[in-house]
Amino acid sequence: MHLSRFPRIFLAHLPTPLERMDRLTAALGGPEIWIKRDDCTGLSTGGNKTRKLEFLMAEARAMGADLVITQGATQSNHARQTAAFAARLGMGCHILLEDRTGSNDPNYNSNGNVLLDHLHGAVTEKRPGGADMPAEMEAVADGLRADGRTVYIIPGGGSNATGALGYVNCAFELLGQANDRGLVIDHLVTATGSAGTQAGLIVGLKAIHAGIPLLGFGVRAPQAKQEENVFALAQRTAEKLGCPGVVLREDVVADCSYVGQGYGIPRADTIEAIRLFAELEGILLDPVYSGKAAAGLIDYCRTGRFRMGERVVFLHTGGSAALFGYDAALRAEV
Ligand SMILES: *Cc1c(COP(=O)(O)O)cnc(C)c1O
Repeated sequence: MHLSRFPRIFLAHLPTPLERMDRLTAALGGPEIWIKRDDCTGLSTGGNKTRKLEFLMAEARAMGADLVITQGATQSNHARQTAAFAARLGMGCHILLEDRTGSNDPNYNSNGNVLLDHLHGAVTEKRPGGADMPAEMEAVADGLRADGRTVYIIPGGGSNATGALGYVNCAFELLGQANDRGLVIDHLVTATGSAGTQAGLIVGLKAIHAGIPLLGFGVRAPQAKQEENVFALAQRTAEKLGCPGVVLREDVVADCSYVGQGYGIPRADTIEAIRLFAELEGILLDPVYSGKAAAGLIDYCRTGRFRMGERVVFLHTGGSAALFGYDAALRAEV
């Protein structure tokens, strides 16, 4: 499995640090908790989309694109990182933002990631919640092509087999770091949404026979649907890499019981997780993804599903820019 065979623009700050969280570990009194800092990948406050975009934007450039289109929720980190990457390459960036939460909070609608999208020079357009976003992107692309632009469409979350290569690479990087310091990883956990992160990681882990179980904490879809999405993308990614069949259906495990009311709506345990990481470790989570995954991690430690003596790595996928769109939820007493 040779990732160098795929075009890539090297721009992420890699390898990201792998650190022990001593104070969180002590506070929870269970397993040893480590953090893989993919919130530090660079590109306009970082996050997991940077690794995917290294491969996606290389494909865009190889086909001569002068503009990329992508889509996401209003506070999409993926949109913000795509806007920053496009700025760096001197390409246009057009973003469709789906109103998934129905919030009319001015900070949600124009601060945080939205502010950064515009600072990077991206054009944004809104769409109502539930819109067929892939079809909307195609329609916008047709119009821009008629104006003479060469357009490359990036799916939501950058989650296709090309984007997932970034997380195959992350699996290799993490294993290398663990091996170099004699760290035996008993569990790897991360947030899972559009599926590219979990799919890429599981392909990488299985391809090198790491023997590390991966658990995705869902942020939107119910468990069966989330696992199906991840498995389908893992299969396509494995095929692209020339190792079809390396991932089995049972390798794909998601727990979607920390979602709450829905995508982008934090629960009390999401806010508690954000506070714990901030106060004990000086680390910023986000209310949509990493805060919900951390709530799951904390609950697994408290309920003994992750046990004393085990070592758990939390892959921090970033998202702190969204905090500024959610200041009301963070200020409220919950
Ligand atoms: C997009 C995102 C995720 C989810 O990753 P997927 O590859 O879409 O599953 C997790 N955390 C943050 C902060 C994100 O922006």
